[in-house]
Amino acid sequence: STFEGLGLTEKLSQHLTSSMKYVAPTKVQRAVISKMIDSQQDYFVKAQTGSGKTLAFVLPIIHRLMTEPDLITRLSGLFAVILTPTRELAVQIHAVLESILRCHHHIVPGVVVGGEKKKSEKARIRKGVNILVATPGRLADHLENTTSLDVSQVRWLVLDEGDRLVELGFQETITKITDHLSQHSRINSNKWIELPPRRVNILCSATMPDDVKQFGSTILEKPEMISI
Ligand code: AMP
Repeated sequence: STFEGLGLTEKLSQHLTSSMKYVAPTKVQRAVISKMIDSQQDYFVKAQTGSGKTLAFVLPIIHRLMTEPDLITRLSGLFAVILTPTRELAVQIHAVLESILRCHHHIVPGVVVGGEKKKSEKARIRKGVNILVATPGRLADHLENTTSLDVSQVRWLVLDEGDRLVELGFQETITKITDHLSQHSRINSNKWIELPPRRVNILCSATMPDDVKQFGSTILEKPEMISI
């Protein structure tokens, strides 16, 4: 099986194999990518760290943005938010996004994590970010205190390492974020053809204990479970 065989564009697939040296999609990528390219469904993904789960949820999002006709020239709006339990993971995912998006400069990734000057983060976000990776506390902070972050077009919310997010007690902060996203959502499905007409929520976790399942069920709507 190949990346192109999963439905990803030729340009993206070639970039993954030629520039990034990924020979073939991993198991979780084979299970998730073609589904997410087509559907507007919420997903619960149970997969270990190291399985290639990051690309499994990142690639379909990038694919949908790349194939959106209106976005070919000038992309504006924040379309995806990825929440991670730690700064390190956020920075790491942002770096992956940057290297994938070398094949498509119109899509701009950004990252907000604690421990950095909020002013400089704010300035960068204001320039326009299309995919944002963040730790929950810092994102909630930005949403509360600034008007620089327009979340009205957000179509994907990914909670990565859900078990760690719960272990670290981020449930309340994440709920605050999802409430904010829902309240400010002004999704215009006439304008964007390839983007889902509602916010798609994805929760990724290496383990699925009851507290994670329960928290997930407060965020996800009729999720499909994919277990690797
Ligand atoms: P993750 O499970 O997302 O933390 O990814 C673990 C590691 O697998 C990362 O270093 C990725 O660069 C690598 N990886 C992701 N997808 C592939 C692939 N299709 N082939 C080889 N390595 C991959």
